[in-house]
Amino acid sequence: MQNITVIGAGIMGGGIAYTSALNNFRVVLHDISEDRLEKSKSEIERLANNSEKRGFITIEQKHHLLENIRFEISLEKAVAQAQLVIEAIIEKMNLKIELFKKLDSLCSDETILATNTSSLSPTEIGSQTSRPEKVAAMHFFNPVHKMKLVEIIRGLETSDETIEIIKTVSEQLGKESVEVNEFPGFVTSRMNVLIGNEAMNMLMEGVASAEDIDKAIKLGLNHPMGPLEMGDLVGLDTRLSTLEYLHKTLGEKYRPSPLLVKYVKAGRLGRKSGRGIYDYQ
Ligand code: NAD
Repeated sequence: MQNITVIGAGIMGGGIAYTSALNNFRVVLHDISEDRLEKSKSEIERLANNSEKRGFITIEQKHHLLENIRFEISLEKAVAQAQLVIEAIIEKMNLKIELFKKLDSLCSDETILATNTSSLSPTEIGSQTSRPEKVAAMHFFNPVHKMKLVEIIRGLETSDETIEIIKTVSEQLGKESVEVNEFPGFVTSRMNVLIGNEAMNMLMEGVASAEDIDKAIKLGLNHPMGPLEMGDLVGLDTRLSTLEYLHKTLGEKYRPSPLLVKYVKAGRLGRKSGRGIYDYQ
């Protein structure tokens, strides 16, 4: 395995591309938006420069990783050599299915198709392709270059071989992996969105300020990040999409907080829009 194509140059796609290139894969990063591709290129260069300045990577590694990534607006060209495709577009099933149908027709029969979905069903995505045994979820965490875990989700038809290849690639990316049988939200999102949603409800009810809710959870419960700052990091729109899906599939306790819905309607999406629960401008 040498060639990875990442689809979607947002928060996660950029991070997956960076980490893959740093670990000697040849990476093509594709997005439907030229603007997003350019922003992602600058972000990857900024991260590489910072990592080099802080001594996390050498100057040779920096050059090597930047040389290893190609930014490509044509989907057909982006997947021409791909052995593994990692999809990281927005969390909407209809868009993911539309994309996987295209990937299925454009990629070689051998190519493994992975989704970085936070909650959706790789079985459903795989069923829309002619290769459900080669489809699984490969769930990375934000920021990808720092977070140690890849949660690997086996769809109903995913083959043992596909799971083994994804485990090996995860190791080559310097990650630990866990294997999870498909169920909405897997292990991590199912737990995490519940904590984040409860924090939004507490903020709405005036239980405490955002700063104090985050401080209480960090210092009192020993979480490395507060749930509200985590929501801003993930993106409140992404968080809302996950909650809507878990509300539909797992029931009432996942009903999105009205305050979260209001923030998303206002375009306050978190760090990526400059303002969410906190202000980043
Ligand atoms: P994002 O909004 O930052 O980026 C999504 C990107 O996908 C955008 O650049 C958009 O232009 C692009 N895109 C949309 N449709 C496309 C298409 N058809 N083809 C190519 N590109 C397309 O989103 P994100 O936060 O990076 O999330 C991506 C995926 O990763 C989602 O499924 C999300 O649930 C999952 N995820 C997110 C996080 C997180 O912390 N943000 C963590 C784990 C998993």
